[in-house]
Amino acid sequence: MKAITFHGVGDVRATEVPDPKVVDATDVVLRITTSAVCGSDLHQYHGRGGGALVQTGATMGHEFMGVVEETGAAVRSVRRGDRVIVPFSVSCGQCDWCRSRMPTQCTTTGRAVFGGRFGHVWGGGQAERIRVPFADHLCEKVPADMADDDAIFLGDILSTGYVCAENGGIRPGDSVAVFGAGPVGLLAMQSAQLFGPARVFAVDRVDYRLALAAELGAEPVDLDAGDPAEQLRARTGGRGPDVVLECVGAEAPFTQAIQAVRAGGTVSSVGVYVEVSMGFPAREAFFKDLTLKMGICNARNHMAPLMPLVRLGKLRPARIITHTMPLAEAPRGYAIFDRKEDRAIKVMLKP
Ligand code: NAD
Ligand code: ZN
Repeated sequence: MKAITFHGVGDVRATEVPDPKVVDATDVVLRITTSAVCGSDLHQYHGRGGGALVQTGATMGHEFMGVVEETGAAVRSVRRGDRVIVPFSVSCGQCDWCRSRMPTQCTTTGRAVFGGRFGHVWGGGQAERIRVPFADHLCEKVPADMADDDAIFLGDILSTGYVCAENGGIRPGDSVAVFGAGPVGLLAMQSAQLFGPARVFAVDRVDYRLALAAELGAEPVDLDAGDPAEQLRARTGGRGPDVVLECVGAEAPFTQAIQAVRAGGTVSSVGVYVEVSMGFPAREAFFKDLTLKMGICNARNHMAPLMPLVRLGKLRPARIITHTMPLAEAPRGYAIFDRKEDRAIKVMLKP
């Protein structure tokens, strides 16, 4: 089958790889109908994380959905022909961590991610087919009237944006600033609106992304027009926002988030920090009495609860899609998403 494989920094290619098969009785094989390029794929694409890259030749991608094509003998909850979404992290549903609603810490899979480099290496979703283990636990059926483009992000970036907003503890009337107007930040802005903030600010430097943020009800803050913490204080009566959502994944925005939040406020961060350590403005955080919440998203917990919000149009994740291309054109998709060319925000791949 055709798959997008990793060959070094900035080098992904459409290649032929062996078809996946059912190995364990709890597996299914999906025929992928839609996959996407995630900001987390860019960390691998850039070779960030101290050289701990995915293996050369490994299939990329952890945002995908599809139709069940083959099932293992023990699979009960899905059948051949079902359309399903799957979370980005691989978990068993049985271990202590999974039972305590932290499937990203799954000890059975070693915190694995589809197409990732942690734990057992599972094939990725930027392909024509994929093997999904623990199918009864990982697969969530999608109603026939729900389009792929509405459903797919429940498995990763919509759940992540939602969790970022929820962890911020936004209360009605709050002011909220979101660092990063990429796919995750834009979905965090949509999610923040569910909690009734008076104002939402969007911080980025990419004009067309800030323009979409404005369409979603956020007030743009241009990162390059001056220190973002000062700009945010100036626009909130000198105090700073009550809640700051960090959706970039680097030291600069993390530091700026802490600098921007008001005393006693909350910083909620979902950006992926692939470096082992980074600077932390400890003194400022301490004297501000702030609350910090960060981490990987346990997307499996949120797929079903958020689905009705998408079906009823209270969350409109598909609005961020700017490009849909055949799988084989994924190398161009990576390049424009990375370089922010051609007004790219979210790139979808159709096998
Ligand atoms: P993206 O790279 O498209 O978006 C990042 C945006 O941040 C860009 O628009 C960029 O211009 C902007 N930016 C850069 N520096 C900034 C700064 N100092 N202040 C404000 N904005 C700045 O990626 P994305 O797909 O939106 O993903 C964002 C982050 O979320 C990535 O780190 C990704 O790995 C992470 N992520 C985390 C989880 C999780 O489980 N926690 C899940 C999915 C994605
Ligand atoms: Zn992702």
